Amino acid sequence: MNTPPPHACSFCGAVQGADTPLIAGIDGHICEACVALAHQVVTSWGRTRALTGPLKAPPKPKEIKDHLDRYVIGQETAKECLAVALYNHYKRLAAEANHPRRVLDDPDRVEIDKSNILMLGPSGTGKTLLASTLARIVGVPFVIADATTLTQAGYVGEDVESILARLLDAAGGKRELAEWGIVYIDEIDKLARVGESSHGTRDVSGEGVQQALLKLVEGTQVKISPKGRKEGSEIPVIDTRNILFMVGGAFAGLERVLRRRLEPGPSSIGFHTEPKAKSDAQGAGGIYAETQPDDLRHFGLIPEFIGRFPVVVALHDLDEAALVRILTEPRNALVRQFQQLFLFEGVALEFEPEALTAIARKAIARGTGARGLRSVLEGLLQRPMFELPSMSGVTGCLVDEAAVSGEGAIRWQGTQDADQADPDGSLALADGG
Ligand code: ADP
Repeated sequence: MNTPPPHACSFCGAVQGADTPLIAGIDGHICEACVALAHQVVTSWGRTRALTGPLKAPPKPKEIKDHLDRYVIGQETAKECLAVALYNHYKRLAAEANHPRRVLDDPDRVEIDKSNILMLGPSGTGKTLLASTLARIVGVPFVIADATTLTQAGYVGEDVESILARLLDAAGGKRELAEWGIVYIDEIDKLARVGESSHGTRDVSGEGVQQALLKLVEGTQVKISPKGRKEGSEIPVIDTRNILFMVGGAFAGLERVLRRRLEPGPSSIGFHTEPKAKSDAQGAGGIYAETQPDDLRHFGLIPEFIGRFPVVVALHDLDEAALVRILTEPRNALVRQFQQLFLFEGVALEFEPEALTAIARKAIARGTGARGLRSVLEGLLQRPMFELPSMSGVTGCLVDEAAVSGEGAIRWQGTQDADQADPDGSLALADGG
């Protein structure tokens, strides 16, 4: 009498044996490897469903750049670089979502490394804006962390793992979505170890945090305990392999490292470089573009950390013309925002072109890049915004250069009672009606 042939996995054909147990179904069988694979496929459906739009038609680098152009002024090279990095990241995600089997099984598969991004550039030049705009384009969860608040696990402060807990929150608790998110870590230069550079405020702890971040960035399984987790419920484990990490910092003092390398010779060291560095303030962005991994090592980042950020993007200082564009051009430009606020009161707020230039000049003097624009505008319009809701008959408000420089007053247009609304006479009525 013949013994029946051993069962085989209905998916991959693996024959049942001591090492290959099979689960029996009504008409077939499945082995452990195929169960694991099926789990991975099903998990990827969740992601694909959540990201179907972008993954079906991933935006091309030019489209990403066009989108960035709507929100970010200037920084053309940086935008191009980021568009390519994001596009490649997308392709990686799409490959995993659409062909999880190939990813697991194919012995010849080429593993594409993540293009984590390091952004160098003065404060207020758009690093955070670029990162958040990219996340919006992709439609993935996004969190911003500040490197100066991070500590190694076990110390008082924010653990690096807590970034992932926040990412999970941003993903509405959906682990699969969080695992494809973008994390932006600001002020990364503050983690530089003191030694080769003298401006860091952290020493061992900075390096310790670099090490802790390195683990996350390299790709690891991290157990996290989000706030409010119920006792006894499963602790989520986040796989950081596919999370795109972006880090940024002003890297003040990096110019010195770069100049030492790029301009060797007796006249380029010590105090002799000072006048040149000053006259070349605009060139700081230019010289940052020359940054090599070794310069970052001299600056105080550890080599393993640098190695995980293959895309280095330099942002440059924004000049007067760029700041004027920032005031008026982006979708949510500051001038438009204030115009909208005034419009709620039925008043058209107008700026003369010279006034915009004067605002840009004031912001540059504050040395905080485009960030200074808002505080200049707030200061300028604070008084009118205080007065306006109590005024009647006003239809327009005109800001000229004199008003910005403090030599003149902002002028109202309409038929209001200027004296009543403006007891100290600082606001002049432009046309009495
Ligand atoms: P940082 O480089 O310090 O991260 P941010 O991205 O936070 O600077 O910029 C601060 C603010 O300045 C932003 O919210 C944005 O409104 C404005 N801003 C900075 N750079 C640009 C830019 N290139 N284009 C448009 N707005 C910008």
